[in-house]
Amino acid sequence: MELRDYIRDIPDFPQPGIAFKDITPLLADARAFATAVDAMAEHFIGHRVDKVLGIEARGLILAAPVAYRFGAGFVPVRKAGKLPWEIEREEYELEYGTDLLEIHRDAIHPGEAVLIVDDVVATGGTAAASARLVERLGGDVVGLAFVIELGFLSGRAKLEGYEICSLVIYEE
Ligand code: AMP
Repeated sequence: MELRDYIRDIPDFPQPGIAFKDITPLLADARAFATAVDAMAEHFIGHRVDKVLGIEARGLILAAPVAYRFGAGFVPVRKAGKLPWEIEREEYELEYGTDLLEIHRDAIHPGEAVLIVDDVVATGGTAAASARLVERLGGDVVGLAFVIELGFLSGRAKLEGYEICSLVIYEE
Protein backbone atom coordinates (compact mmCIF):
# COMPACT_ATOMS: atom_id res chain seq x y z
CA MET A 1 0.00 0.00 0.00
CA GLU A 2 1.21 3.52 -0.82
CA LEU A 3 1.31 5.52 2.41
CA ARG A 4 2.09 8.62 0.36
CA ASP A 5 -1.50 8.57 -0.92
CA TYR A 6 -2.70 9.20 2.64
CA ILE A 7 -0.51 12.25 3.28
CA ARG A 8 -2.00 15.63 2.39
CA ASP A 9 0.06 18.72 1.53
CA ILE A 10 -1.32 21.90 3.07
CA PRO A 11 0.38 24.94 1.50
CA ASP A 12 1.27 27.91 3.71
CA PHE A 13 0.39 26.22 7.02
CA PRO A 14 1.01 27.15 9.81
CA GLN A 15 2.80 30.06 8.14
CA PRO A 16 3.51 31.30 4.61
CA GLY A 17 6.13 29.23 2.76
CA ILE A 18 5.67 26.03 4.81
CA ALA A 19 4.12 23.01 3.06
CA PHE A 20 2.58 21.14 5.99
CA LYS A 21 2.42 17.35 5.73
CA ASP A 22 -0.99 16.45 7.15
CA ILE A 23 -1.11 12.81 8.29
CA THR A 24 -4.70 12.87 9.58
CA PRO A 25 -5.95 10.95 6.47
CA LEU A 26 -3.33 8.26 7.22
CA LEU A 27 -4.35 8.07 10.89
CA ALA A 28 -8.03 7.89 9.95
CA ASP A 29 -7.57 4.93 7.59
CA ALA A 30 -7.37 1.67 9.56
CA ARG A 31 -5.09 -0.08 7.06
CA ALA A 32 -2.76 2.87 6.46
CA PHE A 33 -2.40 3.52 10.21
CA ALA A 34 -1.62 -0.14 10.92
CA THR A 35 0.80 -0.30 7.95
CA ALA A 36 2.72 2.74 9.19
CA VAL A 37 2.93 1.52 12.81
CA ASP A 38 3.93 -2.00 11.74
CA ALA A 39 6.58 -0.77 9.30
CA MET A 40 8.23 1.45 11.92
CA ALA A 41 8.22 -1.39 14.47
CA GLU A 42 9.43 -4.03 11.97
CA HIS A 43 12.45 -1.93 11.01
CA PHE A 44 13.72 -2.32 14.59
CA ILE A 45 12.66 -5.91 15.24
CA GLY A 46 15.57 -7.85 16.70
CA HIS A 47 16.75 -4.81 18.64
CA ARG A 48 16.15 -4.50 22.35
CA VAL A 49 13.57 -1.74 22.95
CA ASP A 50 12.66 -0.87 26.56
CA LYS A 51 10.96 2.48 25.90
CA VAL A 52 9.44 4.17 22.88
CA LEU A 53 9.58 7.94 23.03
CA GLY A 54 7.00 10.05 21.18
CA ILE A 55 7.56 13.72 20.35
CA GLU A 56 4.64 16.14 20.78
CA ALA A 57 2.26 16.32 19.08
CA ARG A 58 1.78 13.71 16.34
CA GLY A 59 4.74 11.64 17.50
CA LEU A 60 2.73 10.82 20.65
CA ILE A 61 -0.02 9.23 18.56
CA LEU A 62 2.42 7.09 16.57
CA ALA A 63 4.80 6.11 19.37
CA ALA A 64 2.14 4.62 21.65
CA PRO A 65 1.12 1.74 19.34
CA VAL A 66 4.79 1.12 18.43
CA ALA A 67 5.53 0.77 22.16
CA TYR A 68 2.63 -1.65 22.52
CA ARG A 69 4.01 -3.77 19.67
CA PHE A 70 7.39 -4.08 21.40
CA GLY A 71 5.87 -4.70 24.82
CA ALA A 72 7.81 -1.55 25.77
CA GLY A 73 6.91 1.46 27.87
CA PHE A 74 5.82 4.76 26.31
CA VAL A 75 7.49 8.10 27.12
CA PRO A 76 6.24 11.54 26.04
CA VAL A 77 8.58 14.39 25.09
CA ARG A 78 6.62 17.61 25.26
CA LYS A 79 6.89 21.32 24.58
CA ALA A 80 7.81 23.58 27.51
CA GLY A 81 5.46 23.74 30.48
CA LYS A 82 3.25 20.74 29.70
CA LEU A 83 4.78 18.02 31.90
CA PRO A 84 3.71 18.19 35.56
CA TRP A 85 6.73 16.71 37.39
CA GLU A 86 10.51 17.28 37.48
CA ILE A 87 11.95 17.68 34.00
CA GLU A 88 15.10 17.77 31.92
CA ARG A 89 15.04 20.33 29.14
CA GLU A 90 16.77 20.75 25.77
CA GLU A 91 16.76 23.72 23.46
CA TYR A 92 16.38 23.20 19.73
CA GLU A 93 16.52 25.51 16.75
CA LEU A 94 13.52 26.66 14.80
CA GLU A 95 13.67 28.51 11.51
CA TYR A 96 13.55 31.71 13.57
CA GLY A 97 14.82 31.40 17.14
CA THR A 98 14.72 28.41 19.47
CA ASP A 99 12.22 26.36 21.45
CA LEU A 100 12.33 23.90 24.34
CA LEU A 101 11.54 20.20 24.68
CA GLU A 102 11.04 18.53 28.05
CA ILE A 103 11.03 15.01 29.48
CA HIS A 104 10.30 13.72 32.98
CA ARG A 105 13.51 12.95 34.88
CA ASP A 106 12.41 9.44 35.78
CA ALA A 107 11.00 8.55 32.33
CA ILE A 108 14.13 6.66 31.27
CA HIS A 109 16.50 4.70 33.47
CA PRO A 110 20.26 4.39 32.82
CA GLY A 111 21.00 1.63 30.31
CA GLU A 112 17.50 1.47 28.84
CA ALA A 113 17.20 1.07 25.07
CA VAL A 114 15.01 3.83 23.60
CA LEU A 115 13.38 4.13 20.18
CA ILE A 116 12.36 7.70 19.19
CA VAL A 117 9.24 8.20 17.03
CA ASP A 118 7.85 11.29 15.28
CA ASP A 119 5.66 11.99 12.26
CA VAL A 120 8.08 14.17 10.28
CA VAL A 121 11.84 14.76 10.27
CA ALA A 122 12.51 18.10 8.63
CA THR A 123 15.74 19.86 9.70
CA GLY A 124 16.34 17.18 12.34
CA GLY A 125 16.61 19.68 15.22
CA THR A 126 13.64 18.30 17.15
CA ALA A 127 14.76 14.68 16.84
CA ALA A 128 18.38 15.53 17.74
CA ALA A 129 17.22 17.39 20.88
CA SER A 130 15.09 14.36 21.85
CA ALA A 131 18.09 12.07 21.43
CA ARG A 132 20.12 14.37 23.70
CA LEU A 133 17.37 14.15 26.35
CA VAL A 134 17.47 10.34 26.21
CA GLU A 135 21.25 10.32 26.56
CA ARG A 136 21.20 12.90 29.37
CA LEU A 137 19.06 10.45 31.36
CA GLY A 138 21.52 7.64 30.64
CA GLY A 139 19.44 5.87 27.98
CA ASP A 140 20.79 4.41 24.73
CA VAL A 141 19.12 5.54 21.50
CA VAL A 142 18.29 2.40 19.49
CA GLY A 143 17.20 4.52 16.54
CA LEU A 144 14.65 6.97 15.21
CA ALA A 145 11.51 6.20 13.20
CA PHE A 146 9.54 8.70 11.13
CA VAL A 147 6.58 8.37 8.81
CA ILE A 148 7.91 11.23 6.66
CA GLU A 149 11.39 12.50 5.88
CA LEU A 150 11.82 15.85 4.10
CA GLY A 151 15.06 14.81 2.43
CA PHE A 152 15.72 18.25 0.95
CA LEU A 153 16.16 19.66 4.49
CA SER A 154 18.97 17.17 5.29
CA GLY A 155 17.77 16.24 8.78
CA ARG A 156 19.94 13.11 8.65
CA ALA A 157 23.04 15.28 8.94
CA LYS A 158 22.00 16.22 12.51
CA LEU A 159 21.31 12.55 13.34
CA GLU A 160 24.58 11.02 12.19
CA GLY A 161 25.47 7.75 13.90
CA TYR A 162 21.86 6.82 14.64
CA GLU A 163 19.83 4.16 12.83
CA ILE A 164 16.98 5.92 11.00
CA CYS A 165 13.77 4.52 9.53
CA SER A 166 11.62 6.81 7.40
CA LEU A 167 8.68 5.41 5.49
CA VAL A 168 7.99 8.14 2.92
CA ILE A 169 10.81 10.38 1.67
CA TYR A 170 10.13 13.65 -0.18
CA GLU A 171 13.02 15.04 -2.20
CA GLU A 172 11.35 18.38 -2.95
P1 AMP B 1 12.58 19.60 12.51
O1 AMP B 1 13.04 19.86 13.92
O2 AMP B 1 12.87 20.75 11.59
O3 AMP B 1 13.07 18.28 11.98
O4 AMP B 1 10.99 19.53 12.55
C1 AMP B 1 10.34 18.36 12.95
C2 AMP B 1 9.14 18.64 13.81
O5 AMP B 1 8.34 19.67 13.29
C3 AMP B 1 8.26 17.41 13.88
O6 AMP B 1 7.80 17.25 15.22
C4 AMP B 1 7.14 17.68 12.91
O7 AMP B 1 5.90 17.28 13.45
C5 AMP B 1 7.17 19.17 12.68
N1 AMP B 1 7.27 19.53 11.25
C6 AMP B 1 8.31 20.15 10.64
N2 AMP B 1 8.07 20.38 9.35
C7 AMP B 1 6.84 19.87 9.11
C8 AMP B 1 6.02 19.79 7.93
N3 AMP B 1 6.41 20.28 6.74
N4 AMP B 1 4.80 19.19 8.05
C9 AMP B 1 4.39 18.69 9.24
N5 AMP B 1 5.12 18.75 10.37
C10 AMP B 1 6.34 19.33 10.31
